Amino acid sequence: MEKSPLKNIEHWEEDILKRYPDPDLPKKEKEDFRNYEDSDRAETVREFYRLNHTYQTYNFVCEKEADFLKFNRKEMSLWEAVDFLNTLVDDSDPDIDLDQLQHLLQTSEAIRADGHPDWFVLTGFLHDVGKVLCLFDEPQWAVVGDTFPVGCKFSDKIVHAEFFNANPDSTNPKYNTKYGIYEPNCGLDNVKMSWGHDEYLYQIMKDYLPEPALYIIRYHSFYAQHRENEYSHLMNDKDHEMFEWVKEFNPYDLYTKAPVKPDTEALKPYYQELVKKYLPEVLKF
Ligand code: FE
Ligand code: FE
Repeated sequence: MEKSPLKNIEHWEEDILKRYPDPDLPKKEKEDFRNYEDSDRAETVREFYRLNHTYQTYNFVCEKEADFLKFNRKEMSLWEAVDFLNTLVDDSDPDIDLDQLQHLLQTSEAIRADGHPDWFVLTGFLHDVGKVLCLFDEPQWAVVGDTFPVGCKFSDKIVHAEFFNANPDSTNPKYNTKYGIYEPNCGLDNVKMSWGHDEYLYQIMKDYLPEPALYIIRYHSFYAQHRENEYSHLMNDKDHEMFEWVKEFNPYDLYTKAPVKPDTEALKPYYQELVKKYLPEVLKF
């Protein structure tokens, strides 16, 4: 099975931008953007989703959790984790001009510029650190990609939903009904999500950050809910309240990929303080 159909994992996010173009762009640009078609790229993104939707089963998620939630791979400070993540650059890809640290800083700096609370800025800064999974040799489709609940019916609003036909859960009567193994409005905390960088980082951060920050980290790739509202029937009142923050965060994640590179050295002292305020010196990955 091919582990890495995407030349660069950021191609997944660029594809999301085509689905949800920046509403602040002028109409013409938005259309150009949507119509822009790089057929090689589209093919690799399709293959990426085919693998993701085929293999992200309820059992697969249980196995990954049992393994990765032991946190026995590496101990790192957040800074070391960001440096480690930054080794994930693919210089065979000429169109990627920002490294991981720069994506994180652009996101967090845009949040800071809008005067949001410091924990929100910190959340922007660390939200993708779970992508270190790639460096533990995990296949791309188990690190990035839109996330969705497993253990119940896959929404047909999930991108490339046709590929769920190959997922054994979709023919398993235990898992293929509207509620599957869940109760109506049981709350997302009781719902297993497909495995990737979101859930992994949430589990690392859950004792340290305020609740809205944890929702942002855990559900930022759950487009089928925060953009399509397809899973309200599993959510409780607290989830709905907290998803306002997930929605507030999403445009910063998607639309702040400015060509200007943030001055990492100049910004470092501010982020060092912020990290110290909330996080312990060493985190277990
Ligand atoms: Fe992400
Ligand atoms: Fe991101």
